[in-house]
Amino acid sequence: MTGTHDEPIPALLATLQAGWSNPFYRRLWQGQGQGLGSPRELEQLLCEARFGELPIVRKDDLKRHADEIMCWDGAVDVVSSSGTTGRPVDIPLLAAEEQNRVDRVRRTIREIGVGPNGRVLDLLSLNDMFALGPQMWLAIKAEGAMAIRCQAARLQRILDVVHYLKPGFVVGNPHVLVAMAEDAIANGLWPDRALLPRAAVFAVAATFQSDLLPAPVVQRVQELWGIETYTSQYGCSEAGTLAYECGHHRGYHINDGDNLIELIDPDTGAACGPGQAGEVVITALALPRGFLPIRYGTNDIAAWIDHRACDCGRTSSRLGPVIGRRDHQLKIKGQTLFPELLLQVVDESRLARHCAIGVRKTELGADEATILVVPAEGVDGGDLVHRLEAILTRHVPVLPRLSLIEESQLRALEERELQRTNGVKVPRVLAL
Ligand SMILES: [Zn+2]
Repeated sequence: MTGTHDEPIPALLATLQAGWSNPFYRRLWQGQGQGLGSPRELEQLLCEARFGELPIVRKDDLKRHADEIMCWDGAVDVVSSSGTTGRPVDIPLLAAEEQNRVDRVRRTIREIGVGPNGRVLDLLSLNDMFALGPQMWLAIKAEGAMAIRCQAARLQRILDVVHYLKPGFVVGNPHVLVAMAEDAIANGLWPDRALLPRAAVFAVAATFQSDLLPAPVVQRVQELWGIETYTSQYGCSEAGTLAYECGHHRGYHINDGDNLIELIDPDTGAACGPGQAGEVVITALALPRGFLPIRYGTNDIAAWIDHRACDCGRTSSRLGPVIGRRDHQLKIKGQTLFPELLLQVVDESRLARHCAIGVRKTELGADEATILVVPAEGVDGGDLVHRLEAILTRHVPVLPRLSLIEESQLRALEERELQRTNGVKVPRVLAL
């Protein structure tokens, strides 16, 4: 059912019982053909391995039924998750839950040796829209290390910290780390390798590809910063860290004592086997929670990696990179295509300076996608289309149209799309 070997029945039962005392879940399970009338029937459901029959809950449910579903008693913090329209999703963090989330981040950072007397250059934002920032800060301190908070945009401050405080670790978005180094190099300010941190936690970015090779951005950070060891993690604001990379980089190891993870085929609702991409659906195992996820659909699309034990010795399931979003799923000539995967492949080719996916619905309701590409400097347009087509064919079952576009034109399309959404992130999937 989950890719794990043993069903965590007692913890899962406790979660379902907690769900039964929540007015939202009780109503949901009593209705919708579930017809569950008592906690005893929930137990029965688990014994019969029918957990997968419980309905999937989505962010829209959190918006519509926030007052029922959220538990604010004992909350010590709020995690805000960006929404495009309507009521924002504010999630209460209970004291024990915050501790549990921080413990999961601690497991990630211990992978690169963060511990007592370690010095960590922490470039993550502590702002209200970013759940990981404060949890990382608390995790570093809980390990007995020193968190040196720096705003990524303040380059001179960071260079001073590197020079005078000599942090051995850095935590940040790898794309930001690359931009920062390139900026400093262009201005003749980049310090000697010997001064720079040797180990990194990469956050909020894909660090590896579906074939488990490092993402080009990771290789670039390693070149520029001289990073020798790194880790990264996967999670969501609704539930915190779900999985992390070990030093062998064989995919994300699931924190399977804290959350149950299922991968569900978005079309059929069936559980996915190894290699088959599906939506990441989570259920809390560690309680309590301000928001209790029980079969909560994260919208992220990923696939299980083979079930062999990792070289680090862990035998738990390993998750591949997030290759798309469920609500961005396109149907082209009967095939499922995730625009994020296309964008990732184009980005990694280094042939394009800028790209996005334009999507249009045909009169018959099918999707028509066009990859809009601005060629990288020195790359010929005609040549680019042929080379990208050859690369994309290796990754996707059906090839959308490729179209060259002027940088200014693409920016204008993004700007128009930005007006329609919440304005937090520059959109890369554009309605044409
Ligand atoms: Zn491992």
